[in-house]
Amino acid sequence: MKHVVDQLQRPLRDLRISVTDRCNFRCSYCMPAEVFGPDYAFLPHEKILSFEEIERLVKVFVGFGVQKIRITGGEPLLRKDLPQLIKRIHGVEGVEDIAMTTNGTLLKKYAQALKDAGLARVSVSLDSLDEDRFLEMNGRRGKVKTVLEGIEKAAQVGLQVKINMVVKKGKNEQDIVQMAEFFKGKQHILRYIEYMDVGNSNGWRLDDVVAKKDIIEQVNTFSPLEAIAPNYKGEVASRFEYQDKKTEIGVISSVTESFCSTCSRARISAEGKLYTCLFATKGTDLRELLRVDEDDTAIKNCISTVWKERKDRYSDERNEQTMAERKKSKIEMSHIGG
Ligand code: SAM
Ligand code: SF4
Ligand code: SF4
Repeated sequence: MKHVVDQLQRPLRDLRISVTDRCNFRCSYCMPAEVFGPDYAFLPHEKILSFEEIERLVKVFVGFGVQKIRITGGEPLLRKDLPQLIKRIHGVEGVEDIAMTTNGTLLKKYAQALKDAGLARVSVSLDSLDEDRFLEMNGRRGKVKTVLEGIEKAAQVGLQVKINMVVKKGKNEQDIVQMAEFFKGKQHILRYIEYMDVGNSNGWRLDDVVAKKDIIEQVNTFSPLEAIAPNYKGEVASRFEYQDKKTEIGVISSVTESFCSTCSRARISAEGKLYTCLFATKGTDLRELLRVDEDDTAIKNCISTVWKERKDRYSDERNEQTMAERKKSKIEMSHIGG
């Protein structure tokens, strides 16, 4: 096995694969309806990596020591026959863990097939339990009840379930405690996510971010918390446990407490571009190589070169200047997933 480290000595450990740039939601912080309207040009089918191509890439990444794969999007469950892809990835020797991030609307339908195919874990995004606020957050596309049914079904078939809640000031911060209470009762791990300046479409302002410390303070008043150690080096969420040991919560604090020094994630967009940072402005085309290179040599060399040259630490360096430099040119979150 040939491990690679980047310029900051960070190994390549995790791979996130976006399987579609399409979504049935229009979350205001990700794919606002004003930008992703009826005329938006999504990727045509032939530009999207096939399951064979994705499997081939997974094999190459495993050769660099990657063991964990996360499937994302857009909304991954919109990709036809997704369980078949999970099955293929599960069959790759060296893959130890397959997870998926989803908005949960189609989870009830596919949970069993995904589990049978080898999926171990799902992170389900849910920003509010209040129907009106949820509709406002998701562009009036999906109901709380549907997502909750998806979560229940996933747990029932034996998938490990976490809940992701993006917190946006003035939009859903009033739901922080209600979400904590509800999911503590269900014993599902809830992870609050600081609203990030990904992409160019969401009109992000620092003032709209609810900081980790404020989130924790609110949850503490509901039920006292204590910090617990990360499960492994580089875990993105800081973890807390309720003092009554009922369950755990996490906060992903990309804005107020960044974690670039341990970032070991590579991302592949649905069209097969390799990105080494969520806030990158350009990717490296692997699809072209997949479609001409017969024995993977060029693909391996390309990934190795890109990773060895990597210096990304956008969140550590986020300031007026770095934000201005990348204005209008960052990759959209719906292209590379979270
Ligand atoms: N559609 C799926 C979903 O929503 O779970 C998967 C893709 S979505 C891009 C992955 C994750 O990114 C979701 O948990 C979503 O809430 C989060 N996300 C999207 N835009 C964000 C932003 N501006 N700041 C923080 N998190 C964001
Ligand atoms: Fe779709 Fe997920 Fe983005 Fe919401 S966060 S618009 S569900 S891709
Ligand atoms: Fe990794 Fe880029 Fe996020 Fe830093 S800003 S943690 S380098 S994805």
